[in-house]
Amino acid sequence: MKIMKFGGTSVGSAERMRAVSDLIQDGESNIVVLSAMSGTTNALVQIAEKLYQNLNDDANALIDALHDKYKQVVEELYNTNEKKKQANELLSHHFDYIRAFTQDLFTIHEERAILAQGELLSTALFQFFLEENNISSVLLPALNFMKIDENEEPDAVYIARNLQTELEKYPNINLFVTQGYICRNAFGEIDNLKRGGSDYSASLIGAAADASEIQIWTDIDGMHNNDPRIVKNTYPIAELSFDEAAELAYFGAKILHPSSVLPAKQKNIPVRLLNTMQPDAKGTTITADSEGGKIKAVAAKDGITAIKIKSGRMLLAYGFLRSVFEVFERYKTPIDMITTSEVAVSLTIDNNKFLNEIVGELKEFGQVEVDQEQTIICVVGDFISERSGSALKIFKSLEEIPLRMISYGGSKNNISLLINTADKVNALTLLNDGIFERSTHNA
Ligand code: ADP
Ligand code: ASP
Ligand code: MG
Repeated sequence: MKIMKFGGTSVGSAERMRAVSDLIQDGESNIVVLSAMSGTTNALVQIAEKLYQNLNDDANALIDALHDKYKQVVEELYNTNEKKKQANELLSHHFDYIRAFTQDLFTIHEERAILAQGELLSTALFQFFLEENNISSVLLPALNFMKIDENEEPDAVYIARNLQTELEKYPNINLFVTQGYICRNAFGEIDNLKRGGSDYSASLIGAAADASEIQIWTDIDGMHNNDPRIVKNTYPIAELSFDEAAELAYFGAKILHPSSVLPAKQKNIPVRLLNTMQPDAKGTTITADSEGGKIKAVAAKDGITAIKIKSGRMLLAYGFLRSVFEVFERYKTPIDMITTSEVAVSLTIDNNKFLNEIVGELKEFGQVEVDQEQTIICVVGDFISERSGSALKIFKSLEEIPLRMISYGGSKNNISLLINTADKVNALTLLNDGIFERSTHNA
């Protein structure tokens, strides 16, 4: 069994859906995980924003515009009037459901139910398309098996058991279609795996089904060495280790959801990043192995806040760091980077929800300074086997950029730097020119 996940652009039009239907008929047994059609989740987020503000007319206008867009897709996707009718009825069902929220109190629960509509629509429309073309497949409702617990972590045991139950209902089927992104939470309510979460769904499903491979089909030919939205002359990386890919995903490479590598790594299932627009391109293969001794890629994560705690008491005081960490633990706020000196510790967070409370408590230990609008630049590669020279290359490239924090040695795959977000584009461009061995990458 193989997992094939297609992102928003890959199912973004009738033409793209047809291309997906060709790719999934490869003679193997496949679970096809689909995102919402491109632009849909953003539109649903906007609709929810209007509903929160009680701007029902604005919400209705957005809902109508999205409905019209889907009616056009139905016109283009199906040949028979029968399927067009069936699909338009499905649209009416989903859009009437969304419209109904304009009459009620609007809370996070309603918002989550609205956000789920994109994946429910794309998978149902795609399943109709397969039916019209006599391709034997079954639509598996992700809400029957995908689940997160009270800490918003996936419940791997539940997912495996329930996915198995669903699959066993269809012993003669070898093509399944299901929704990415959506799940149920600990209370059984509709929830989601956060933006970009279809990659995570694919990986969780792959782990639950003991898949032979997890394919992430998107609009680019694999993980590039740098952010192609920001820097020119980036290139795809043929091979990455699970750890390298996880660092890049976590630190901002949008091609993969931040948590999506772990389930595959735990089950040692290869992940391949492939391009629907160029299906023959090699893409990126992520496995336990990796080519050693090289700087592979850089990524950048914005929205970072740096907190420095300066304390006379830190000098030789064991237990100090524990007390600091306990503050973050109490507010369920993960720390990304940390550096220490004898009199101070600096760390970064990407979630400011409890910033005031955290700073208030940290002030008991000493002087606290907060810097917002920071960016972590993460350089990924194999820094042990190269032994020397990597850091020098990085720092030389960034000669003109003020560095707020540096983290080296935390893992053998990562050197992280904290800079002002205003310097990000410049830093990524300088690194692109300064640290990669261009002569070998196209081999
Ligand atoms: P999908 O809708 O298929 O999930 P995404 O938009 O989430 O696609 O991810 C693919 C996009 O990620 C690419 O179009 C590219 O602009 C962006 N991206 C950011 N960093 C990288 C990187 N290092 N390598 C490849 N793509 C990247
Ligand atoms: N549709 C969701 C989003 O846009 C999930 C995904 O595409 O992975 O965030
Ligand atoms: Mg994505």
